[in-house]
Amino acid sequence: MLDDMHQIHVHIMKLQRRYYRLFSKNISASKMNKHITKLKKRTKPHWKQLPSQVVQNVVLRMGKAYDAFFRNIKDRKSGKTTCKVGRPHIKPQHKYTSMTFTQAGYKLEGNRIRINCIDTWFSFHKHREITGDIKTITLKRDACGDYWICFSCENVDDTEPMPKTGKSAGFDFGLKTFLTCSDSSKIDSPQFLKQSLNKLKTLNKNLSRKVFKSNGWYRAKRAISRQRRDWHFKLATQLCREFDILCFETLNIEGMKRLWGRKVSDLAFYQFIEILKFTSIKQDRQLVQIGQWTATTKPCSDCGHRNDTLELNDRQWTCQKCGSHHDRDVNAAINISQAGVAA
Ligand SMILES: [Zn+2]
Repeated sequence: MLDDMHQIHVHIMKLQRRYYRLFSKNISASKMNKHITKLKKRTKPHWKQLPSQVVQNVVLRMGKAYDAFFRNIKDRKSGKTTCKVGRPHIKPQHKYTSMTFTQAGYKLEGNRIRINCIDTWFSFHKHREITGDIKTITLKRDACGDYWICFSCENVDDTEPMPKTGKSAGFDFGLKTFLTCSDSSKIDSPQFLKQSLNKLKTLNKNLSRKVFKSNGWYRAKRAISRQRRDWHFKLATQLCREFDILCFETLNIEGMKRLWGRKVSDLAFYQFIEILKFTSIKQDRQLVQIGQWTATTKPCSDCGHRNDTLELNDRQWTCQKCGSHHDRDVNAAINISQAGVAA
């Protein structure tokens, strides 16, 4: 079905382009739908079996893409934005991975779904109850070859942010511990990541000649990134539950790579910050990123004395001026917290 949808996508995109070249106008969605109905009768009888609403959604997607494109040109001319939206692409088959049902064409029963046009029931892992009214259902094939079903619902009432706690905290990223909090708690990278990284390494090493970048190799790699993303989301929610104001360093990934080597890209600090941005808006929390050049490691968090003798592998140190004893990462986290709250 996805491949058929892709055929329709290619057909209407090409038609749109040709039409625009000849008449400098776009084809409206209703005209395009009528044209597809005609095609079903004449040259493409196999499109007849496809659910009509899903086919209409292919047209709708193209309309949306073109609207965004033209709106962006207008906005750029009037100076509203500088970001550029390109002309809609014709997707290659392997990148056409999803289709959207609106009201008809399927039937839901518990954790089973029936796709009417192929007359087959599929069961799926329902990881939580569906609340509200289902508006659309999107079936998606991901790069691992798994299928996903996404429900988008209306009248859902989970927008209430979590209760405020009145607490703020600073966080320091690290290699050994993923995050160090200014209340001196530490969050490690989960063990499963290390395990699957090892698995990937062995896969990579043993079979490098034959199956490097083979299907299995990609599958292992994607499975890791999926687990990591899931863990990032959970961690972000947990932090938002505990603190009102979250302070972080502005990441300088290039600098970190130079300092620590390639390992940084595996830890994906950047992705975590992006997820945290999203979660903090949803939960009505404040995410502060302090300036890249603010010193956080060397100054003492109690008196502000700058310890210039601190080396990269000194994990603990004592302030020469006020005599307080510091854990390197916790001290940095407290400095970040202070700088963030001040900002
Ligand atoms: Zn001190």
